[in-house]
Amino acid sequence: MLGEIRGEVRFKEPLSFHTSLRIGGPADIFVVPQDVDDIRHALLFAEREQLPVAVLGGGNNLLVRDRGVRGVVFKLEGCLGRSEFSGEEAVAGAGASLSALIREAAALNLGGVECLVGIPATIGGALAMNAGTPDGCIGDFVSVAYFLYPDGTFGEFKPNAGAFTYRAFHFPPGAVLVGCRLRLHRRPLAEIQKDIKQRLKHKKATQPLALASAGWVWKNPVGLEPAARLVERCGLKGKRINGAEISSKNANFIVNRGGAAAADIVALMDLTRERVQAHFGLTLEPEMRVIGE
Ligand SMILES: Cc1cc2nc3c(=O)[nH]c(=O)nc-3n(C[C@H](O)[C@H](O)[C@H](O)COP(=O)(O)OP(=O)(O)OC[C@H]3O[C@@H](n4cnc5c(N)ncnc54)[C@H](O)[C@@H]3O)c2cc1C
Repeated sequence: MLGEIRGEVRFKEPLSFHTSLRIGGPADIFVVPQDVDDIRHALLFAEREQLPVAVLGGGNNLLVRDRGVRGVVFKLEGCLGRSEFSGEEAVAGAGASLSALIREAAALNLGGVECLVGIPATIGGALAMNAGTPDGCIGDFVSVAYFLYPDGTFGEFKPNAGAFTYRAFHFPPGAVLVGCRLRLHRRPLAEIQKDIKQRLKHKKATQPLALASAGWVWKNPVGLEPAARLVERCGLKGKRINGAEISSKNANFIVNRGGAAAADIVALMDLTRERVQAHFGLTLEPEMRVIGE
């Protein structure tokens, strides 16, 4: 079945090459599919061999542990990488870039999704995380999500209330998202561009974009101060363990200043969790996903 894959299959591929943090041990079997059939072949192989499956989009929200990931790892960025527009709708493949979709929609005077600008993501990763900002999340725009079940059969899902929650999409467990349909609305290009410019300016001023990170480490606790502020109030801003550092620009980011291992990031997370628990009696919940051994 692996032999039928037209894309690439690599063994012991370092995942540090595929994550924004530039950290991560090897994937046993790393598949870069070319199309839905390739994903299906690899899923069937994993099912037959009883191997676990993990999916990477752009790797912008992932900490991969130092000993890597067992089983089959898909890298979907670029595969199913197109978005098509019709009327006020877009149909986007899971590997399409979110920022390219926002740009292409704007050129057609289609907006709404510009509230997501500056989030580095594939469409699949944005869906799985319900990526967003205080002004909106991708789930607000999804009319249908398309996926493959672990046995390779095709499924579609019309999200109901509660399908998308804060940084989560409750799609069938083990499914691989392959695309979605998004509702957009008419808005003049000039307005969208102005909006995008302001949002990117704000992001640049408040986030350590020049350094390797995986975005926010922690979810904001409901009804309390933002996680960044809580971490800062514990005196952890700028705290370093080897090459890993709690950003001095935004304490909800951990950056890799060079040579950090996943163990260093995990140690900073453990320290933060303990301090915030001790100071505020609150357990922070990670937003960044941690995978591997
Ligand atoms: C500088 C920076 C700024 C950021 N700012 C924001 C922000 O403002 N708002 C925000 O919400 N996020 C932000 N993030 C986090 C990140 O960009 C988002 O979580 C994004 O959605 C991740 O997309 P990805 O394609 O890189 O997914 P990945 O990181 O590759 O994967 C994320 C999760 O989705 C799953 N997944 C990915 N693709 C699929 C698929 N096709 N099928 C099934 N599961 C899949 C993975 O298994 C994993 O659990 C930021 C990150 C960085 C580095």
